[in-house]
Amino acid sequence: MFKWVNHGILPGPDLTEDDQIEFEDYRKELNINRCKTIAYFVLYINFILIIVDLLLYKPLRSAHPSYTYLFYSHVFVNILMIIWLFAARQIIGRKIKSKYLLMCYLCINIIIYWGIFMGLNDLEISGQMLAYIICVLALSIFIYLAPFESFTTYFVSLIILIVGLALFVKDDKILYNNIVNITITILCAYIASNINYITLKKGFYSNKVILSSKKELEEKNLKLKEYEKLRTDFFANISHELRTPLNIIYGSQQMIESILLQRNGENRNIEKYLKMIKQNSYRLTRLVSNLIDMTKIDATIYQIGLVNCDIVGLVEDISMSAAGYTESKGISLIFDTEVEEKIISCDPEKIERIMLNLLSNSIKFTQISGSIFVNVFLTKGYVNISVKDTGIGIPDDMKELIFDRFVQVDKTIKRNREGSGIGLSIVKSLVELHNGSIRVNSSLGQGSEFIVSLPDMVTNSDCEDGYLKSLDEQRIERIRIEFSDIYE
Ligand code: ADP
Repeated sequence: MFKWVNHGILPGPDLTEDDQIEFEDYRKELNINRCKTIAYFVLYINFILIIVDLLLYKPLRSAHPSYTYLFYSHVFVNILMIIWLFAARQIIGRKIKSKYLLMCYLCINIIIYWGIFMGLNDLEISGQMLAYIICVLALSIFIYLAPFESFTTYFVSLIILIVGLALFVKDDKILYNNIVNITITILCAYIASNINYITLKKGFYSNKVILSSKKELEEKNLKLKEYEKLRTDFFANISHELRTPLNIIYGSQQMIESILLQRNGENRNIEKYLKMIKQNSYRLTRLVSNLIDMTKIDATIYQIGLVNCDIVGLVEDISMSAAGYTESKGISLIFDTEVEEKIISCDPEKIERIMLNLLSNSIKFTQISGSIFVNVFLTKGYVNISVKDTGIGIPDDMKELIFDRFVQVDKTIKRNREGSGIGLSIVKSLVELHNGSIRVNSSLGQGSEFIVSLPDMVTNSDCEDGYLKSLDEQRIERIRIEFSDIYE
């Protein structure tokens, strides 16, 4: 993109083309309004001068034709100012910004050439060119001309004036004195005009910087408010999550107590309530350990132990261990792969955590008689684990967001599925700790597929003998914990 080069005049980075256009619009608007004020001022002053001409100089007019020219120049410039003000009103009223600069030049030039005429005329009367000097200096202070514009405007008028002086002034001394005076005036006007222009541009730019930092602050504030809302929602949700299992544990314990008191209760009922206590204790255990892990991940003290391990066998074992559970839910779990064995560097415990989390979500969001497919496949440099279900699916606008903490598609307390909204964010962190990535393909009502991609690489430490076996043996308990959100 084109950039206006700063050349050290303004602070901060270069202005873009858009900034420059914005500044030009601002300058045009300011100039036209300033010209309007100047035109009213000239009108007012000339009106007074016309009265002075009429009352005081009347007797002098017949002796000095300069007084007559003075009178007509005041009348003439006032007529021009009235016409200019009328035209300016039209274009300002209709907001014709493209004409602002042209109108501004018109006003400046009418005043400067009136100044030249008055100056030359004054030479005859008072021997000075005060009118021209006042006009040029006043314009250079009040109107914001760019360096090139002020150069052409003021120096062209200087040349015309010098020609005028050369034609009308016969005395060489007066001629040279005036040429020196007006040249100094024009130089001062040019410098003042440039300082004025740069100050305006600087002010505009600083204002823009302030405005943009204000906007940035407002955006950050908005984000903070959103985060605050998310936090409040999370705490509302987490209290619900903590209260539900606690209520059930408490209620079950009371039921057991009353059954035991009556002593005629049936064992079946006691078993039912004991089961409830167990499941809800699992839920609380899961919730608390998720919260602890979340805090450890945030503090970057969460560590993974990478060892070389057959990822295909590991994923198959985990899926098979969960198959019994899914069947009890009326959902079939099918593991399939074309890869026989694949040794990669991973933390088997964390892979189990990732898999159980994804499987638990799939079970939670899939209806009875639905299916879950687990597949391991290879792509260039990666081993991919896919967990696909035929469940309710995820809306397009939520696909990226569900990996963020506390985000749930259905956040209502009335939702028929439990959960804290931190499972997937932990899964994502665990995958990233393996230098891998996770993505989701899903369409609403058609099911979802979560794909975990892990780098196809090995490390120098191998899995200890018996480690995978002991992991396998205790898996049922961990499945109970990870699946505790899913009620019978
Ligand atoms: P939660 O404990 O609420 O399940 P997660 O972080 O595990 O938290 O999941 C976040 C949200 O992502 C879920 O509440 C659900 O809306 C959506 N989600 C996750 N997995 C699935 C899936 N397999 N099918 C449909 N929606 C899912």
